[in-house]
Amino acid sequence: MDPIREAGTEPHAVQVAAGPAAGHTAVGSDKRGESRIRHWEVGDVKITSIMETADRIPWAPLFPAETSEHYKKYAWLVPNFVTPQGQIILAVQAFVLEIRGRRIVIDTCVGNGRGREVPQCENLQTAFLEDFKSAGFDPNSIDTVLCTHLHFDHVGWNTRLENGRWVPTFPKARYLFGHREWEYWQEVLKENNHDVRHIVDSVQPILDAGLADFVETNHRVMDEIWLEPSHGHTPGHVSVRVSSRGQEAIVTGDVFHNPVQLAEPEICSVGCVDKEMSRQTRREFIARYGDGPVRLFAVHFNEPVGRVVRDSQGWRFSTD
Ligand SMILES: [Zn+2]
Repeated sequence: MDPIREAGTEPHAVQVAAGPAAGHTAVGSDKRGESRIRHWEVGDVKITSIMETADRIPWAPLFPAETSEHYKKYAWLVPNFVTPQGQIILAVQAFVLEIRGRRIVIDTCVGNGRGREVPQCENLQTAFLEDFKSAGFDPNSIDTVLCTHLHFDHVGWNTRLENGRWVPTFPKARYLFGHREWEYWQEVLKENNHDVRHIVDSVQPILDAGLADFVETNHRVMDEIWLEPSHGHTPGHVSVRVSSRGQEAIVTGDVFHNPVQLAEPEICSVGCVDKEMSRQTRREFIARYGDGPVRLFAVHFNEPVGRVVRDSQGWRFSTD
């Protein structure tokens, strides 16, 4: 395996965080973000993380309150993934994959200025788009946007506000949404008792602009990049496999929200729609990728890249 390059935080437009330990926990409007940009390589695929936020939040309700002391069993979780005080560090980031002139964005975070039920995501005002540009990505140069699922923290920057209208942020891209995932959201929309504002402001405008393609859960984007079903968190949830020149990776989406779930895959997040299926998916995922060559790129991990390895206590996350 080639040496892995991680460039660290780069200078960019609006530097508001000093690094992984900084973070901004302000809740409510006018919240600034994390502004961390990092790079990795998987064979010929260059992967860039643009981190929108990395909040310190209480264990519950993200995870069941009765598991709130479990992190103490796993010293490796502190301080990168859980604070010494037992708060979860929940990152939200987008990954940009580049290979042979293609530019593919996976998951588009929360977005600015949105009404959301989750307090730390309500009416964000982060520098995400400025960071995206200062990382070298003109939004017009993105050819593909891929959402692992359609929760609000994975679709936000699909759109941006322009003259009071939500318009596509990446007007030259095809946006790939899971056919099965979209069917599920059609049902949710019919039920009329869920917060679907993110579908209205971040998904529907993409359909209206004619930029959406609905794909199967094993869709191949290109030779090196394809989808892999990982249902449970949502019914059509997918992960994204990357393979290039003998190097392997998987962008996990929301199979895991925190690496404590590698040690205890039975812990579900509050957002898991089918909890039992999500547990089964996590167990299968660990069985398939544990102690193997595939590196995880985890959307909600504060240190997002590493492998699933076994130690005397069981499975853990070993960062690059
Ligand atoms: Zn999520």
